[in-house]
Amino acid sequence: MARYTGPVCRLCRRDGLKLFLKGSRCDSPKCAFERREQPPGMHIAKRSKLTDYGLHLREKQKVKHYYGVLERQFRCYFSEANRGKGNTGDALMRLLERRLDNVLHRLSFASSRAQARQIVNHGHVTVNGRRVDISSYLVRVGDVIRVKNRAKSLQLVTGVLAENSRDVPDFLSRVEGAIPEGRMTRLPGPEDVSLPVQTQLIVELCSK
Ligand code: SF4
Repeated sequence: MARYTGPVCRLCRRDGLKLFLKGSRCDSPKCAFERREQPPGMHIAKRSKLTDYGLHLREKQKVKHYYGVLERQFRCYFSEANRGKGNTGDALMRLLERRLDNVLHRLSFASSRAQARQIVNHGHVTVNGRRVDISSYLVRVGDVIRVKNRAKSLQLVTGVLAENSRDVPDFLSRVEGAIPEGRMTRLPGPEDVSLPVQTQLIVELCSK
């Protein structure tokens, strides 16, 4: 699956907020956004205010950068969210929150979504006892995500857990035993999304 491979701190500065794309570095004084908040590039002062379209686009880009998805995949998520009943913006965020790489990160099994994606791709986790190496896998309620019972996998995840353990959101539960595991206890709602985003603007942009 294609992914963005350019400099990620630029994305935070472009979107105007911390997207936490670099793991523990994001909470340290080395964070590029803490040191230079202005957007990347020259002649910043000359740039005019964002247009209405620009405001809508910025919200969409923020979500794409945060979850690490590219335009085509994002459009697929939007189409699926738009097909269902209820609020499209909430449905879109629910789909993104259910991604396996996001769930691993929220469980603190990975310090960033990029690391979570690598952990999944390299086969270090199982879902309901079966190996899943697709980071976009959508976790369902009741699914049990467990680290593979293999020295390399356990060492990797327990190391991250020891360094980066954060509070687990309400829709997930975590058991930190010899083999760390997590479970989705309910579907994530808008209150579980940790990114401040105006989903209405995304819906307006993508519905055109
Ligand atoms: Fe963003 Fe993290 Fe880079 Fe800071 S260190 S600018 S939060 S990716």
